[in-house]
Amino acid sequence: MFSFTEIIRINCTVKMSNYGPAKRILNLDKIMWVEFAKLATETKAVNLGPGIPDIAPPDHVVEALKYATAHDNPYMNQATRAFGHPRLINAIAALYGNIQNRTIEPTKEILVTIGAYGSLFNSIMGLVNPGDEVIIIEPFFDCYKPMVLLAGGVPKYIPLKPKENAKSAQNWILDQIEFSALFTDKTKMIILNNPHNPIGKVFTKDELTMIAGLCKKHDVICISDEVYEWMIYTGNKHERIASLPGMWERTITISSAGKIFCATGWKLGWAIGPENLMEGLRVVNHHSVCSCPTPLQEAIAVGLEMELARFDQPDCYLTSLAEEMEKKRDKICLVLKEIGLEPIVPDGGYFVLADVSKINIDFDDGTSDKRDYKFVRWLTKNVGVATIPTSSFFSDDHKYIGEKYIRICFVREESTLDKGLELLKTLNKSDK
Ligand code: PMP
Ligand code: GLN
Repeated sequence: MFSFTEIIRINCTVKMSNYGPAKRILNLDKIMWVEFAKLATETKAVNLGPGIPDIAPPDHVVEALKYATAHDNPYMNQATRAFGHPRLINAIAALYGNIQNRTIEPTKEILVTIGAYGSLFNSIMGLVNPGDEVIIIEPFFDCYKPMVLLAGGVPKYIPLKPKENAKSAQNWILDQIEFSALFTDKTKMIILNNPHNPIGKVFTKDELTMIAGLCKKHDVICISDEVYEWMIYTGNKHERIASLPGMWERTITISSAGKIFCATGWKLGWAIGPENLMEGLRVVNHHSVCSCPTPLQEAIAVGLEMELARFDQPDCYLTSLAEEMEKKRDKICLVLKEIGLEPIVPDGGYFVLADVSKINIDFDDGTSDKRDYKFVRWLTKNVGVATIPTSSFFSDDHKYIGEKYIRICFVREESTLDKGLELLKTLNKSDK
């Protein structure tokens, strides 16, 4: 037995080399989400930062969860099938089979995971080998990079770039020549996020065809993070890269019940893809978390069954939520224009970028951080609205593209949004 002081001594002498790969390769310093969540709480700001809705999930899903935990089937509160609860994988297969017009084999081509995070982690750990190059389209959801590093992969970045005076997400372009030049004989995977966080870009069929062409030419796997798949605004269509010719065989498509049903705390997601690739994901998932919570899976299954039954009808939650969100997008963009923070109008997702490069306020906080970090801190403390700095979604070389913008999240109750917008309007006065 160790004495208390011996334990302290041992803990204090842990060397870097004694840590496992996660701690040796990654660290917890400067995790942007942590800094800005803390600041928002401390300042009691109206939090328009993280993509965490303050809107409740739909009643039928909440009721299904109550029923799953309370009803008299004793198995519903016990661990279920490791790779996905049978009712949920069947519901996912039925919904996506219907949309993609193909038969999806629920037991072989679907894996239920702890959030979309789990699917991303399983895909990267299950398919990337040390030294493999992974092309990440920027700006990117920040966990892609540490996951690739943990697998021993080498991230390669290609930024979407705004055209001059870009006013909408469509004006952010992936340069085909630059993109093609990134592929080498070491490229194993690309990671695409469509609809895109934070820009709100919905990739067109032509853009996806160009990306798919390169994946096929270089025999590369595509991870398509489609968590905002249902958040599509008028005039746009969500095309699925897995549906393009020759792409099913090399694509893992990822989604999230948290995003679909405003239930991000349920942490349930899934990956869909061909059996041989899914095998890589299944191994990682089985030997790490094994299975996901049964009652949550049951409730999400009930939700998806209901949406499939009323698919294309006005009350289908998948599309009615997007309609509600589109009104919020329009409202927020109007105010941003009014106060001179020109928005990049999103075509999908629930974030909007606001251009803060012309703001005429001294918000320097003496740190060496990027301009958007300083502005977000200033805005949270002085105006009472918390947002997210966009440069955090870029690699070091390309942060200059992001630092012109802050990201504002609008998956919020009307009252929250109105409160935030009223506070933002006060900027007009301080900016003189
Ligand atoms: N991908 C993107 C692009 C996201 O914005 C998020 C947000 N949480 C995730 C993945 C993770 O989703 P989940 O909460 O289901 O893990
Ligand atoms: N995906 C969300 C966002 O982009 C939530 C943040 C997170 O999960 N770290 O805000």
